[in-house]
Amino acid sequence: MNTLESLLEDIEGKLKSQFDTIDRQCEKNTEKVLKAFKNNNVSEIHFNQTTGYGYNDIGRDVVEKVYADVLGCESALVRNQFISGTHALTVTLFGLLRPGDTFLVISGKPYDTLDSVIGIKENESSLKSFNINCEQIDLVNNDFDYDKIEKYLKTNIPKIIYIQRSKGYSTRKSITIDKMEKVIKFIRNIWNDAVIVVDNCYCELVEDKTPVMVGANIMVGSLIKNLGAGISSNGAYVAGDSTLVEKIAERLTVPGQGSEVGPSLNANKDFLKGIYFAPSVVASSLKVAVLTSYLLENLGFNVEPKYNELRADIVQNIIFNDEKLLIKYVQGIQANSPIDANALPIPSDMPGYDSQIIMASGSFTQGSSIELSCDGPLRAPYIAYQQGSLTYHYGKLAVVNAIKSILK
Ligand SMILES: *Cc1c(COP(=O)(O)O)cnc(C)c1O
Repeated sequence: MNTLESLLEDIEGKLKSQFDTIDRQCEKNTEKVLKAFKNNNVSEIHFNQTTGYGYNDIGRDVVEKVYADVLGCESALVRNQFISGTHALTVTLFGLLRPGDTFLVISGKPYDTLDSVIGIKENESSLKSFNINCEQIDLVNNDFDYDKIEKYLKTNIPKIIYIQRSKGYSTRKSITIDKMEKVIKFIRNIWNDAVIVVDNCYCELVEDKTPVMVGANIMVGSLIKNLGAGISSNGAYVAGDSTLVEKIAERLTVPGQGSEVGPSLNANKDFLKGIYFAPSVVASSLKVAVLTSYLLENLGFNVEPKYNELRADIVQNIIFNDEKLLIKYVQGIQANSPIDANALPIPSDMPGYDSQIIMASGSFTQGSSIELSCDGPLRAPYIAYQQGSLTYHYGKLAVVNAIKSILK
């Protein structure tokens, strides 16, 4: 049996090939971001804010152009009026769907917080309450169910097709851009005009291409995850085809006003600084995920993904199969976080989630999960979902100490 000490010896040497791949992607992303700043003439004047209605916010406009360019999209909404990723997804769905419409989800059950939005969990304000119907095709062996998708699309015309890439609190793998590209081509071969919407949370800047670059119409993500880099203190983005983005803007604000309104308050500089740091912060997060995977696998735990696997997102699972170990590990991460290190996380009910959840989030921004965070529902097989880290060294320190605490 390996000891933690023996595993940690020259650990960066052992993981060199994985870390090199991450660094190369980081360099490409860095280039992309700098190019977007230069092409859009980002200047100090864009750090100014608007208040009230937010008319003529040139900073907000340039922020949205930079994000659109980095993501390879026609346009983007980057707003602090989105209170979370779930809110941006909700506004997207309400913006694009009308009573009587059906939307088809082809990646299995969507993220838990969408249950009340869709109406999987009864709610008087759900899409279902507006007579908007959701149908679901599950993944098979961690890939799309091509047969079912084909059969469905030959006899139905859903208003949108929805794909969630990251696994949420499920046990499936997250969906790589190659798999996205393949299924989008397949859908367009059957029905070229399909509107494809992607929940891209946790996947930004992990791989070279974005879902829109491989044919999706809209993608959505949170700014207290990858693209905010721990600098944006709230918000989310919606990016893609400009006519659809504008429709979504009219739901976020007001029909007839759309993206023209919405005060940036103090967010413009942080949104710009966030995406500027995002390539490096995503790289740090990925290195911490790889390190965690390597150490825990070699100590005899089940992990997903493996340290040398191609990653679609920044999430690392540790499958503890043991309630006490899950709790102890999560507590170990909290105890080695910069904020509230003395708080002891305990499992509790959370709005939007079914099982009790234990959550370590010793972060500067509440709920931020691009900062090192670790959580999991208290149900078998007792999986920890760990993600983020603003720097590699802080992440390594926390993970090593959390492991020590479970080995005791
Ligand atoms: C984080 C996440 C969301 C949105 O979560 P918020 O906490 O509301 O920002 C949606 N889908 C997936 C897959 C996620 O990981």
